[in-house]
Amino acid sequence: MLRIVPLYPELLSIYADRGNVRVLEQRARWRGIPVAVSPLPLGGDLDPGAADAILIGGGQDRDQALVAEALIAQVPALRSAIADGVPVLAVCGGYQLLGHAYVDQSGQRTPGTGLVDLETQAGPDRLIGNVLVDVAIGDRTERMVGFENHAGRTALGAGVEPLGRVLAGAGNDGVSGFEGCRADRVIGTYVHGPLLPKNPWLADLVLGWACEHRGLPADLEPLDDRLELVAADAAADIALAERR
Ligand code: GLN
Repeated sequence: MLRIVPLYPELLSIYADRGNVRVLEQRARWRGIPVAVSPLPLGGDLDPGAADAILIGGGQDRDQALVAEALIAQVPALRSAIADGVPVLAVCGGYQLLGHAYVDQSGQRTPGTGLVDLETQAGPDRLIGNVLVDVAIGDRTERMVGFENHAGRTALGAGVEPLGRVLAGAGNDGVSGFEGCRADRVIGTYVHGPLLPKNPWLADLVLGWACEHRGLPADLEPLDDRLELVAADAAADIALAERR
């Protein structure tokens, strides 16, 4: 049984990020892979041995502050899971909490997990719009589409790779030209949508890692993604038409 664990989805799932969980679950089911989703509620403790993929969605500043202490308490379990090859997909507010801290527009500092060397400081305005990103994964380049809505500007530490290069939209800070972060199988991104329905390549990358962790075949049989790709094409066109 493949085990997908969303962290605090009752608080961190703004802009339908819970859809990422549904996509991983459904793409496993379409392939006949038994799968279970076990949300970690606020106050619960993560069992690192009971997760094959961990997802954290986005949230308002107050939601992030509400979960920060509980999430930090899960750092030993998260480090253990990550060291064991469990993929982590963190979106927006969840991405920010992968880092050392998020300082909001009022100056309130919400501490993060420090799992990835990055810091986030809210800017004077929000970065909102459709986004198109080029992602280099191994020897291939993939397109990632979606939308973003965040005040935070994220600075990656010296040794941290961005997830991709912004072709349209703001990305990490609206200046660097980079979006997200990737530290082995830990992926952070500002891209909502939810992210995975229109980016099936990324869904299958995370699903393949999860299967590998579970000792299941990681070379997933291709699915008919024609509809997903039509949606991705439309989103890319909108992002390019809006290019700042
Ligand atoms: N509250 C954070 C910000 O405004 C994250 C927002 C989000 O998750 N969409 O930057």
